[in-house]
Amino acid sequence: MAIGDLFAFREWDDTSWSGLAECKGLAAIFFPPAAERPQARERREAQAREVCQSCEVLIDCRDFARRNREYGFWGGESEEERHAAGYRLIAPIGVRARNIS
Ligand code: SF4
Repeated sequence: MAIGDLFAFREWDDTSWSGLAECKGLAAIFFPPAAERPQARERREAQAREVCQSCEVLIDCRDFARRNREYGFWGGESEEERHAAGYRLIAPIGVRARNIS
């Protein structure tokens, strides 16, 4: 698969909800650093999940991430959870390690 194919899923989409995001300035807990260990990912994602729980645009954000096959933690969901919900990513973190199909 060519890299351009990764964006074939992307739709032009309304992102006006992002102005109300609780995660502004917190990218470090929503996207993994290189070579992140599983235990560190669990801690980072737990922090991100806590931020999302009080975010008023959680549903819009989650739906956007699902539609656009986003990587990272969005709308209270990890890549692994989005993958398990049927919104397949090409290489979601955690899925291969846990042998989830
Ligand atoms: S639901 Fe979470 S990831 Fe989405 S905008 Fe809100 S805080 Fe950010």
